[in-house]
Amino acid sequence: MKEENTVLLKKILQSEGLRYTKQREAIWSEINRSNDHRNADEIYFSVLKSGTKVSRATVYRTIDVLVKHSLVKKIDGVESGSLYENRLDRKHHDHMICVETGKIIEFYNRELENLQDQIAKDKGYKIVRHVHQLFVKPIKP
Ligand SMILES: [Zn+2]
Repeated sequence: MKEENTVLLKKILQSEGLRYTKQREAIWSEINRSNDHRNADEIYFSVLKSGTKVSRATVYRTIDVLVKHSLVKKIDGVESGSLYENRLDRKHHDHMICVETGKIIEFYNRELENLQDQIAKDKGYKIVRHVHQLFVKPIKP
């Protein structure tokens, strides 16, 4: 875990009136170490496997705090429950979710981003954040 990421975590926990603990550090570290899209239980079991004793409730609550402070991105609408991914140091992207396999496919399209900005602007608004999810299935030959 990079020192600056630990500092960031401490600041966030403090702002939420929560104590910095090695359990919470392990949760943040687990999410931060990969670009996977995982549900809270998968993250919970990975933290346990890494050798840190932690309760499921702590994992869920810590993830919520990380989402609130934009360190972690939440992906809703997936059958296996909400998925989470590291958001720090990552470029903005959107997701396709395969309804047959549950596979997550990341995509980014500059023209689409610009078009969304334009549509909002035409209505007199400025986009502050957006969620763009496509539910897909494989094209069978
Ligand atoms: Zn992603």
